[in-house]
Amino acid sequence: MTALFGELLVTRARTHRHDRWTRTQLDTYQQRMLARLRDHAGRHSPFYADQHRGMQSASLAQLPPLTKTQLMAQWDRLVTSPVLRLDSVTRRLQDLESLGGDPGQPWQGRWWTAATAGSTGQRGVFVWNRREWIRILSSYARVNDWAQVKVGPRRPVPTAIVSTRNPAHQSAVVGASLRNPLAPTLRLDATQPIEALVEALNRFQPRLLVCYASMLTPLAEAQTAGNLHIAPEKVITASEEQLPPARRAAIDAWGVQVIDTYAATETATIASTCSHGSMHLYEDFVIIEPVDSAYRPVPDGQLADRLLATVLFSRTLPLIRYELTDSIRLATEPCKCGLPFRCLDTVAGRTEATLRMHSRTGEPVRVQPGLFHDALEPVAVHGWQVQQTTEGITVRIVDPDRQVDLHQITRRLRAGLAAAGVSDDIHVDITAVQGLARTPLGKAPLIIGQKQERPGGEGSR
Ligand SMILES: [Zn+2]
Repeated sequence: MTALFGELLVTRARTHRHDRWTRTQLDTYQQRMLARLRDHAGRHSPFYADQHRGMQSASLAQLPPLTKTQLMAQWDRLVTSPVLRLDSVTRRLQDLESLGGDPGQPWQGRWWTAATAGSTGQRGVFVWNRREWIRILSSYARVNDWAQVKVGPRRPVPTAIVSTRNPAHQSAVVGASLRNPLAPTLRLDATQPIEALVEALNRFQPRLLVCYASMLTPLAEAQTAGNLHIAPEKVITASEEQLPPARRAAIDAWGVQVIDTYAATETATIASTCSHGSMHLYEDFVIIEPVDSAYRPVPDGQLADRLLATVLFSRTLPLIRYELTDSIRLATEPCKCGLPFRCLDTVAGRTEATLRMHSRTGEPVRVQPGLFHDALEPVAVHGWQVQQTTEGITVRIVDPDRQVDLHQITRRLRAGLAAAGVSDDIHVDITAVQGLARTPLGKAPLIIGQKQERPGGEGSR
């Protein structure tokens, strides 16, 4: 067992005690951690020293938000370690991708690095010290703890992960750091043909299956068809929105609980499913503020355009009110499981976009992801994808057994767009496909705007 793994066990046990905290204990802890973070950032980051000057007594909500564009432009002033420079960390990540190597081994003996996918075309570059990295590992470990995945010396957990094998991706770095005999891991690339995935999974026989949410349906259908025969005790989805038909297909195929997680490279896990099936925020790791497009707070129960994340354990690249462009809604009702953490109702738009279209008179119309979910989900149960084009939209409907009525789908979609005020001269092109178009990282975004990362596109990750 590595030293890192030993330290993780200690932190994990400490973190586990937070589950039994009262809300007051959690609030007190958050405030203490936030004060430490602000103090550290103000003293060691030239960027924050400028940005927060004279605001020591201001509340968190009064501090300026930080966008990814700002972060990347100001990286060398934002970082708190004078030995770190954006160009050398970027080079390290490029070397890992082009030359290979073990991403779990710390760079220069002390730094762990990862890059984000860049759904807006810009790549984010992140670096953590040992203490931060252990916090990140313990945040991912909590997903399994809450999912009640039992592990012990006589009960190893063979884990299959169907996502990306890119060594610059945080999940690959996490996986490589945790390599140990109790959790033998098989990493598969979601861009591989389904037959190859099925064969590898049949050979490996995972106790735990972790996959992109968009891989649930094809894998569950392979199981139901009798090609895939695995018996995972839990299924965990990550990186993409878990849709109800996909969840039902997985429950039908394996008869197990399907855990949902919401995570980002910048924050590690933000929320995951508890034993009662609710998504709880990891509020002892990160403070989440749902806001509208002008950064005004959005109340619980309403869909927010984006969120601001303050990563309480961040020190090397302190993240205070860092903008994530996911659209979330906090629950108004508490969960009955007893965890002190608030619940997340929805993460709509983790991999999707609000599309800009126009009305009959040429006025701009914003088309929310919900319109497509409502129109397509009930009828396109094997999966769907909407991509904006210069003339309108292309809709791909996964239809393996040719049973989907494309005319009905066109009518539903047209009616939804008309109700939203979209002009009827928008071109709607619907095609039946065998599988969804995937990005170089293997993700299958549901709604792709014109400026977003394109499946099969180049350069973006
Ligand atoms: Zn709960």
